Amino acid sequence: MAEILTTDRALVRAASPSESVTWQDAMRRAIRSSAELLRRLGLPAATAGPALGELPPPEAHAVAAAERDFPTFVPLEFLARMRPGDPDDPLLRQVLAVAEETRPIPGFTADPVGDAAARVSAGLLQKYSGRVLAIPTGICGVHCRYCFRREFDYADNRDASLEKSLVPEALGANSLSREGSAEPTWQPMIERLRRSPDVDEVILSGGDPLTLSDAKLDRLIRAIEEVPHVRRLRIHSRMPIVIPQRVTAAFVARLQASRLTTWVVVHCNHPQEIDQAVSDSIAMLIDAGIPVLNQAVLLAGVNDDADVLESLCREWVNRRVQPYYLHQLDRITGAAHFEVDVRRGRELIEQLRARLPGYAVPTYVREIAGEASKTPI
Ligand SMILES: *Cc1c(COP(=O)(O)O)cnc(C)c1O
Ligand code: SF4
Repeated sequence: MAEILTTDRALVRAASPSESVTWQDAMRRAIRSSAELLRRLGLPAATAGPALGELPPPEAHAVAAAERDFPTFVPLEFLARMRPGDPDDPLLRQVLAVAEETRPIPGFTADPVGDAAARVSAGLLQKYSGRVLAIPTGICGVHCRYCFRREFDYADNRDASLEKSLVPEALGANSLSREGSAEPTWQPMIERLRRSPDVDEVILSGGDPLTLSDAKLDRLIRAIEEVPHVRRLRIHSRMPIVIPQRVTAAFVARLQASRLTTWVVVHCNHPQEIDQAVSDSIAMLIDAGIPVLNQAVLLAGVNDDADVLESLCREWVNRRVQPYYLHQLDRITGAAHFEVDVRRGRELIEQLRARLPGYAVPTYVREIAGEASKTPI
């Protein structure tokens, strides 16, 4: 495995786009169609999915439908870590629209984790004691085909004031609305927080909260800081992985200056996602005293392999990042082809336990609607 990683890194370095590209430019120039994605990787347009081979017209239509439902969005920074010419590349598989997505599968639904029932105000979910999950934006820096939020009704979670905060930061980003000049207000969310004295942690999730500009994040964090009983801020983001230049010095300094204790949870599923720029960005956070955890989703054809998971965990602890959760896939419509059997997942965790120090083994969990926490498997 170590050998494979070295090769991947060499490839990544050679293909890495210029470091001078701002993260906003990275959003603007991201790939927005599976045809373009395949072309860039030197794959035939007909190869719209591992093992699918030639696409007859019904399959091609299904891919088009899948992309209408959930558009392709892949930054060049992430593309650069894929192996050209490999239709089974584990990074490609996470982001490539395939015909299987449109096939209805019993048991796979639009809201498998009960988000609608957990909504306590516009953009705010509470499922667990002491912590709330805020969704300040529906925009992400990559579109993961297995995402449990792909069916999330962001429209229903805005109201007049939150709407403004949903305006895209990067012009031409993957969103429906255009950049506006309106000052974002987070009033309903903050009001609700004020009335929840038992909550001492706010989790910024999404979407991806780091698609908001430093200025907007500053205003949001300031509003949260003004709620006295909140002690911790947790940021769940895939941006340090997919567009690592998002971790700006100014952003890190802002977190350091906060009265809130900040934790960052990144989302990375495969060791090939970790390149030098990712390492450097994570190091900036940790050097600033901000603990970083990683969560991954167990995905068929991506990381359902003991060597891959071992390498993922090892690479993270080598970089001072603790593997936090390995999530069983949420049974969201269109994601069934990513599901790994729970028995297989348990076996994989056993293998990790035999190979790694205890702190490097993530907790294997699934989310069950209505439960008081993520449920260990
Ligand atoms: C997953 C989740 C959390 C965080 O759970 P932890 O076990 O604390 O990481 C909080 N709120 C909601 C709504 C969640 O889905
Ligand atoms: S970045 Fe996170 S929220 Fe966004 S599509 Fe990927 S998994 Fe979903």
